[in-house]
Amino acid sequence: MDIFRTIPDVRAASRTIRSDGKRLGFVPTMGALHDGHLSLVRAARTQCEAVAASIFVNPLQFGPNEDLEKYPRNFDRDCELLRNDSVDFIFAPSVEEMYPEGAVTHVTVEGLSDRLCGQSRPGHFRGVTTVVAKLFHIVEPDIAFFGQKDAAQLAIIRRMVRDLNFAVEIVACPIVREPDGLAMSSRNAYLSSKDRKAALALYRSLMEVQKLFQQGERNADVLMIAGRKAFMEGESARLDYLKIVHPDSLDSLTDVKETALAAVAGFVGTTRLIDNVLLRGEEVAVHSKATV
Ligand code: AMP
Repeated sequence: MDIFRTIPDVRAASRTIRSDGKRLGFVPTMGALHDGHLSLVRAARTQCEAVAASIFVNPLQFGPNEDLEKYPRNFDRDCELLRNDSVDFIFAPSVEEMYPEGAVTHVTVEGLSDRLCGQSRPGHFRGVTTVVAKLFHIVEPDIAFFGQKDAAQLAIIRRMVRDLNFAVEIVACPIVREPDGLAMSSRNAYLSSKDRKAALALYRSLMEVQKLFQQGERNADVLMIAGRKAFMEGESARLDYLKIVHPDSLDSLTDVKETALAAVAGFVGTTRLIDNVLLRGEEVAVHSKATV
């Protein structure tokens, strides 16, 4: 497994792979890897002859008072995990490599970037789309793999790819969860054992929404109110939002007619966590203990 730090090295490797007729799958990450990330790598492996991952904690997607400095970093362990999963190469650039002095160009998906987390984290999605656009240009993958865990990010990246004609296919992978339902996240490492229990408020709220939906409730207000109430039961977590939106446009819905996205964000102490579930037409997304 090669570890590249520079853009020309990655380009050369990617072009060699693709000129050999292999499809290149790409998994962008911020490191501190867990089974959620590795599920994307494994999905890439099943669909592509070569797999690349990036590890880059992107300063552009963090707000001034957010956790950029303390974001968990564990490069050696990440490399070992990716090597065990037969990744062909890692791109782990410095901030200067990605944003040389004078870099002022950004990619913004208008409208969508202000919804859900975009409302409480202004500029976050602009940072995400800018870095993902750059990574796509640098790595030139055939297929890129993203987690359904970051459902708004997924919708925004899909729209960017469509609007700007990127020659990459986007594949979404299911949310990987802990046995008690908590969605895996690099930020779970911040949680004390007390916080860890409180963090279940997110999953509990979504399961309440899903239960009512399965029972036939289609009014988004009723579903959201019930979900918010279930969230508050724990007391120690603070709700940022719980919304029911269209999974592609992220527009709020009044009735759930076809597929809808129930998305939640909340704070446990200073840790901000997100989660979501897809509510599908007559039926609900298949749900097992490990994935939604
Ligand atoms: P991050 O390192 O947080 O930027 O995440 C990198 C990729 O992993 C994104 O596409 C995330 O959606 C995905 N991801 C993070 N957590 C999970 C999870 N629990 N299940 C599935 N995918 C995930």
